[in-house]
Amino acid sequence: MKIGIVGCAGRMGRMVAAEVLATDGVELAGGTEAPGSDFIGRDIDGIKVGDDAGTLFRASGVVIDFTVPAATMVHAGLAGENGCALIVGTTGLEAEHMAALEKAAEKAVVVQAANMSVGVNLLLGLTEQVAGALGDDYDIEILEMHHRHKVDAPSGTALALGQAAAAGRGVDLNQVSQTARDGNTGPRNPGDIGFASLRGGDVAGDHTVIFAGDGERIELTHKAGNRSVFARGAVLAALWTPRQKPGLYSMRDVLGLA
Ligand code: NAD
Repeated sequence: MKIGIVGCAGRMGRMVAAEVLATDGVELAGGTEAPGSDFIGRDIDGIKVGDDAGTLFRASGVVIDFTVPAATMVHAGLAGENGCALIVGTTGLEAEHMAALEKAAEKAVVVQAANMSVGVNLLLGLTEQVAGALGDDYDIEILEMHHRHKVDAPSGTALALGQAAAAGRGVDLNQVSQTARDGNTGPRNPGDIGFASLRGGDVAGDHTVIFAGDGERIELTHKAGNRSVFARGAVLAALWTPRQKPGLYSMRDVLGLA
C-alpha cells in the first residue's frame, strides 16, 4: 500500500512518516507542504517535500492529512476526483469542510476523526453510555489541556466528547453547548454541556468528562502520553481502507466500536 502524507513537515506529518516507515507492508508515496513553504524541495525524514497535491493523490492508494481545514477541503476534492482513500485528522472543521468530505465520500473511502487514538475512541463510547444512564441533574463539563502551539479551542476531541454526551442524552449539542464563561455569568443553565480549555507546555492531549451531581461526581479521563498514538491510529485507519466501500467513516468504525 502506498501512503502519501500532506503536511509532511508538520508536527503530526513527521510522526505519521515515522510510523509509516516503521510499518510492514506499507510504503511512503511522498509528501507535500503548503505552497510557498520553506520546506518545498527539501528532504525531510526521507521524503522529498513537494507542493503538488494532485500528483501525490495520483501516486497514492491512501493519503493522510493533518493540516489545516482550508487545505483539507482541497485534499477532499482530490480524493474524490482520484478515488483515493483519505484519512483526515485535521481539527477545527466547520460545516463547509465537512460538506467537502461528504462529497468526496461518494467516490472514495474517507475516515475523519478529531482524535485517532484507541483510548479516546473508547472514551467516546463510555461518555455516551454514562450520559444516557444519568439524568440531567448530573451537570456535564468537559475539560481539555493541550500544548502551547494548539490554535483551536475547545479541542476537536472535546467537541466530539460533547457530541457523544449529547447523543447519550438525546439532545442537540448546538442547543446546549457552553464554550465561554467570563464575568457575571449567572447560575449554570440546567442541561448545558460546558467546555473549558487549558493551554501550555508540551501536553499531547488530556481530556476529562465530568458528570457532577449532588453529593457525587464521576470523572472519565484520558491522557495521551505522546502524539505517536494519533499517528499509529491514522496508519491503522489507512490499512483498514482497502476493504471498504466509498463512504465517510469514523475511527470508531475502524476500531469496530461504532
Ligand atoms: P502543524 O502546524 O505542526 O502541521 C500542519 C502542517 O500542515 C504544517 O506543516 C503546514 O505547513 C501544513 N499545511 C498547511 N496547508 C497545507 C497545504 N495546503 N498543503 C500541504 N500542507 C499544508 O500542526 P499539527 O500539530 O501537526 O496539527 C495538524 C492538525 O492535526 C491540527 O488541526 C491538529 O489539531 C490536528 N491533530 C489531530 C489529531 C487527531 O488524532 N485527529 C492529533 C493531533 C493533531
